[in-house]
This record gives sequence, structure tokens and C-alpha cells, in this order.
Amino acid sequence: MTETVTNWAGNIAYAAKKVQRPRSPGEVRALVAASPRVRVLGSGHSFNAIADPGADGVLLSLGALPAEVDVDTAARTVRVGGGVRYAELARRVHAHGLALPNMASLPHISVAGSVATGTHGSGVANGSLAAAVREVELITADGTTLRMARDDPRFGGAVTSLGALGVVTALTLELEPSFEVEQHLFTELPLAGLDFETVASAAYSVSLFTDWRDPGFRQVWLKRRTDRPLPDFPWAVPAKVALHPVPGMPAENCTEQFGVPGPWHERLPHFRAEFTPSSGAELQSEYLLPRRHAVEALHAIDGVRETVAAVLQTCEVRTVAADEQWLSPSYGRDTVALHFTWIDDTEKVLPAVRRLEQAVDAFDPRPHWGKVFTTAPEVLRPRYPRLAEFGALVRALDPAGKFTNAFVGDLLGG
Ligand SMILES: Cc1cc2nc3c(=O)[nH]c(=O)nc-3n(C[C@H](O)[C@H](O)[C@H](O)COP(=O)(O)OP(=O)(O)OC[C@H]3O[C@@H](n4cnc5c(N)ncnc54)[C@H](O)[C@@H]3O)c2cc1C
Repeated sequence: MTETVTNWAGNIAYAAKKVQRPRSPGEVRALVAASPRVRVLGSGHSFNAIADPGADGVLLSLGALPAEVDVDTAARTVRVGGGVRYAELARRVHAHGLALPNMASLPHISVAGSVATGTHGSGVANGSLAAAVREVELITADGTTLRMARDDPRFGGAVTSLGALGVVTALTLELEPSFEVEQHLFTELPLAGLDFETVASAAYSVSLFTDWRDPGFRQVWLKRRTDRPLPDFPWAVPAKVALHPVPGMPAENCTEQFGVPGPWHERLPHFRAEFTPSSGAELQSEYLLPRRHAVEALHAIDGVRETVAAVLQTCEVRTVAADEQWLSPSYGRDTVALHFTWIDDTEKVLPAVRRLEQAVDAFDPRPHWGKVFTTAPEVLRPRYPRLAEFGALVRALDPAGKFTNAFVGDLLGG
């Protein structure tokens, strides 16, 4: 029987004819052994064909496996199953008085799928979500279970792996003691004279939002840990009403604002787990480049503002600390992440994406692996200095390319 399987956004219909939902690791192994090409589908929140195994391949969902979340309070770690989402993980970790260091804008996404694409939140001292991973467990092409921990020389390729090494059945993440966060929102931050370093460092996690209809930011979200000082923020105006990052969308969908303290997992994401995140009808793109170029890059985007604004719902500017995953878009460099939530019209959006990519090209941008981009593989390759090592790891673990789809194959080249 065939079924049409699409991603969350509905812009990608996977060519795979069916989703397999194994109920045990044994069933995963049998499916991997029997199929020439396999990809895992996480929660399907990517906006491109990264998860698509192709028409002859099998798409595996791990949603029917037991949702393992094993907290070790003494070691301050959690072992989390390959299909579990952040909302469930965060709830269980918090119940033990512990916390993840950071979260993305939404808790709806799967942990394994998120770290596979380099998903991140914000904060000058916060690495991508993959930075919290201490060990990866996966079922490889020959059906064996492989564990790679931080002291393994292959670990740099093991977490942000684009799903190319095998089926990730569990991840072990580092935790810290639970903490509280307050959200302080501001409006009207001008681009002219922006001291980006100071603004981006004003709190634990900082996001700037603009619709690029004017050269400035309509919203600033400061997420302050209550165990750190309350910043002075004289550059913008305190928000008078609750806000949603997408103009016109209801603020009820967003996590509590106005400085009301709350647990880390109910403040670090912008969107509440029980509501549709973002606008729900959208495409997304994001470019990660060295943070020292932030102001220049923002002015470059201002130069193509009308093209971008015509198809834009909102743009978010965040920061990510350098990390050590070879394929992480924030690998080896303190990063500014320039995110775009577009209207849900691929034909109209792609010309703006291309124009934007030209505008920021000089700053060595690495596109988010899970979002819409048109950068050619030969342009991307030199932007990842450890790509050849990653290719060698893929060939060593999966010589027949069972887990390599068109997206990964094009990137790695012949
Ligand atoms: C509304 C919205 C908001 C977003 N906000 C953010 C944000 O704040 N920050 C950010 O960086 N990104 C953000 N994203 C992008 C999103 O985090 C990434 O696309 C992420 O990969 C989604 O995880 P997923 O489980 O849905 O992945 P999927 O799209 O399902 O899969 C992504 C990749 O991971 C692989 N994979 C998944 N699970 C496994 C597994 N168990 N074993 C092996 N491979 C696996 C898949 O094969 C695929 O290659 C957002 C997306 C949406 C829709």
C-alpha cells in the first residue's frame, strides 16, 4: 500500500512509498537489513528533502518504539530514545530538578532529528543543541549497534550527521541543575548604530526580529536566567503588550512574557508545546556566518530589503557559540544565525532566497541543513573544513551507501 508522506510544512512529499514504524530494535535491524536504502523520519520539521530516501527506499519512523527517557541524576545525564521529542524530554528532565542548557524556538521537534541538522537556539555562550550530546548509539548498515562517545576520534562526525551514519536509537545528553528564566521583550531597536555584540550578550539567550519593511528590529526577546543579573537595555522600548514573532499571529501561542519567571523549558522556546509553533503556513531558510560579520551582513540584507520583505513573515537573528561537530553550521566559529520565515509559496520564495544568498555570500554563510537553500554542493564543500573526514566516516560505516540519499550524496560528491 502506498501513502503520501509529507513534511510538517507540506512543501515536501517524500518519494518513499511507505513509512515503516518498527516497535522494537529487532524490527529496526530487520528493516535495515532488508532495504537497499533507508532514512529515518524524525518529527518531519525540515523544509527540504534531507529525510527522503528516494522512491526505492524505506522511511523509518521511530515513533512506535518505547519512548525512552532515562535520567541519571548522579551523573547529570539523560539517555533519550531516537524518536523522542524535546517537549517530552524537557518535562521528564525538569521533574528530576535538572535542565538542558538550551532549546530551539519550539519543543515539538525530535531530539535525534534536531541534532542531526545542527538545530540551535540562541546565546553567545550556548552551542548548538548537538553540543550537549556526550554519546550516540546507532544501528549501522550491517545491523550492528555502535556507540560513539566524546573520546572516540569519530565523534566529530557522529552527532550532526544528517542521518547518514545509521539509525540513531539513543543519545546521551549532559544536563545541569534546573534554572528559571524570565522573558523581557522590547520593540523598536534601530539597525543604525547597532552594537551587535553588546545587544547579543545582554542575556542568556537573545533574539532580534524584523520583517525588513524598515531597517531595524520590531522585537527584541531577552531570555534572562534569574540566577544572572538583570541587564540594562536602553537601546529599545519595553513591549507594552504580549507579542508573537510573526505579525498578526496570537501571542497566546507563545511562552509567558513580561518578566514572569518560569522553568527553563517553558521560557527558552518561543512557542508553547500545546500550540502550533510559528505561523504554521510557511517555509524557512537560515544562514549561519561568523559573528564578527553580523552588522555588515545585516546591512547587506538591508540592501535587498524590498525583495526579502515581499515574501517574508519574519526574520530572526540569533547567536550560536562555536562547536566541534564537523558538519555543524556553527563548527569552529562563533556564529550569528540569520533566519527567515517566508510565506508558504515556493515559487515566489525561491527568487528571494537566491537574492539573499548573493547578498550574504561574501560572509561565508553555511545554510541550515533542515531549511530551504539553493547553494550548490561545490560552493558548500569548502565551507566545511572537515567534510572529507565525514565522507570517509560515511564510507567506513556504510560502504554500500544504504543511508546516503540524494541530499547527502550531492553534498559528499563522487
Ligand atoms: C516551526 C519550526 C521552527 C523551527 N525552529 C528552529 C529553531 O529554533 N532552530 C533551528 O536550528 N531549527 C529550527 N527549525 C528546524 C528544525 O529544527 C530542523 O529541521 C530539525 O531537523 C527538525 O527535527 P525533525 O526531527 O523534525 O527532523 P526531520 O526533518 O524529521 O529529519 C531531519 C534529519 O534527521 C534525520 N533523522 C531524524 N531522526 C533520526 C534518527 N533517529 N536517526 C538517524 N537520523 C535521523 C533525518 O533522516 C533527516 O536527515 C524549525 C522548524 C520548524 C518547522
